[in-house]
Amino acid sequence: MKLVKTKLFQGIIHCETGLHIGGSSDEIEIGAVDMTVIKHPVSGEPYIPGSSLKGKMRSSLEREKGVDSRGEPCGCGGNACMVCRIFGPHKNTRHQLGPTRIIVRDANLNTKSRDEMQKHLRERGIMFFEKKTENIIDRFKGMALHPRSMERVPMDTDFDLEIVLQVYDSDNEIQMVKTVKDGLTWVEKTYLGKGGSRGSGKVTFNNLTLDGQPFSLA
Ligand SMILES: [Zn+2]
Repeated sequence: MKLVKTKLFQGIIHCETGLHIGGSSDEIEIGAVDMTVIKHPVSGEPYIPGSSLKGKMRSSLEREKGVDSRGEPCGCGGNACMVCRIFGPHKNTRHQLGPTRIIVRDANLNTKSRDEMQKHLRERGIMFFEKKTENIIDRFKGMALHPRSMERVPMDTDFDLEIVLQVYDSDNEIQMVKTVKDGLTWVEKTYLGKGGSRGSGKVTFNNLTLDGQPFSLA
């Protein structure tokens, strides 16, 4: 099996609403928000882990194809399974598919959003995040219980998207490219991160290019 070429997808991940991708609980300070967003340990800037976007693309594609994997990612390892071929055959160690084809980079703030966050930091001493408080309603008493606060990356924040697709000699390049585009389309149609059913995590992929050539999602 020979690596023939790599395809490079680039673009902007634009937050249409606040976005919450959880950080580690180590970062929680007393009296601060209950659920913080993931941030770079050094810069303190939020980012979208490649694993979050990759996982969401994968699970959406599996649902579209009606994969019955009982809550686990598909591990069929079949030659015809684009999900296993591109995203890796999960725990299946006996497959003949070769390496995972997709590389989803961590998406960092793009220059414009970084400048805005840094400006906010200089002027107010803190990086700018939204705090969304959610109540759980007691249906019998009609009262709000345990309000929780969730930190979110504010709407209109932009992150740099970069995905590399490795094409081997045994691969159907056109079909693989289409599957990656479908995965991105599904993320746009659903959400990224936590709280999607309650209004968080709506993103669009803008200024998309494939090997430098502009394209748009269906
Ligand atoms: Zn599979």
